[in-house]
Amino acid sequence: MGQITVEKTYSARIVRIQDETHDTKTYDLVFRSDQFHFTPGQEVKLYADTPLRKNDWRFYSLTSSPTMKERIQLTMKHEAGTFTPYFLNHARVGDTYAISEPRGKFLSKAIELASEGKIKTIALLGASSGVAPFKSFIEYSIEKGWDLDIVLFHSVKTMNDWIYRSVLLDLLKKFEGLKTVLAFTREKEESTRDHDPSEYTVDRFYFVTERRFQLEDVARHVPEYTGAYYAICGGITFIGGVKTNGELGMMQKLIRGGVPRENIDIASFGAK
Ligand SMILES: Cc1cc2nc3c(=O)[nH]c(=O)nc-3n(C[C@H](O)[C@H](O)[C@H](O)COP(=O)(O)OP(=O)(O)OC[C@H]3O[C@@H](n4cnc5c(N)ncnc54)[C@H](O)[C@@H]3O)c2cc1C
Repeated sequence: MGQITVEKTYSARIVRIQDETHDTKTYDLVFRSDQFHFTPGQEVKLYADTPLRKNDWRFYSLTSSPTMKERIQLTMKHEAGTFTPYFLNHARVGDTYAISEPRGKFLSKAIELASEGKIKTIALLGASSGVAPFKSFIEYSIEKGWDLDIVLFHSVKTMNDWIYRSVLLDLLKKFEGLKTVLAFTREKEESTRDHDPSEYTVDRFYFVTERRFQLEDVARHVPEYTGAYYAICGGITFIGGVKTNGELGMMQKLIRGGVPRENIDIASFGAK
């Protein structure tokens, strides 16, 4: 007879909800006990009842640093599906939800290498909500004081879709080893000029408009880029491209540029 494993869940209460963009929110959650341990890059299942299904769930990455003991953070983006939009519209401060134990190995090799001082540079490439686990990693890395240069590449459609805009500007000011490159893939260059330039006077902030990231961007911003470690997170297309039309994903672009496959970690969030 096969054994039935019962998944352990934690009861988590929402204590804060923050708008990141027009369609993305960050939830701060607290537990009754402090037995919840995770590492950056791991995800949890969040359970909720929706009109379509009782006890439905989706995966969300932990976006806070594990060093923040008293609470965790999850960032959720509206993808026009059935679960996340319902949660974004209905969850309130004070509500309690079930959360699974953390799982997954994304970023575990990066953490091991960085903590042993075996990598000098890590490039984090995220599309849309794929930036979520990288916030956890960057904050953790700063807390740990690792001697690590971090280059964050974040691809979003327009400036209005830019998740963690203020968090990132703060992190850049706090940590000199961080550099960030944004791709506003559907934003015209003139409109990016309309934004208050004083916000971006911080060094180590770059952006490209009206196109996706290319290998040249990586080569330009990551020192000795073929020797760096990479983590890519987002939809399948961002990571692996589109077979039918030959469009390359970031993984193929890096490999064609000479980055060894074993130095690339990936986490796929879904179909797009
Ligand atoms: C390991 C892992 C970690 C994740 N972490 C996060 C996170 O931190 N934050 C977050 O917002 N999401 C995260 N996701 C995605 C999340 O679990 C849901 O899949 C996503 O929010 C869509 O749920 P939904 O209820 O809106 O859509 P569903 O009802 O599940 O699907 C409906 C439609 O949405 C499309 N869809 C599903 N996922 C995506 C996607 N990622 N992008 C675009 N379209 C999609 C499907 O193709 C489908 O057509 C993660 C996924 C995985 C596998």
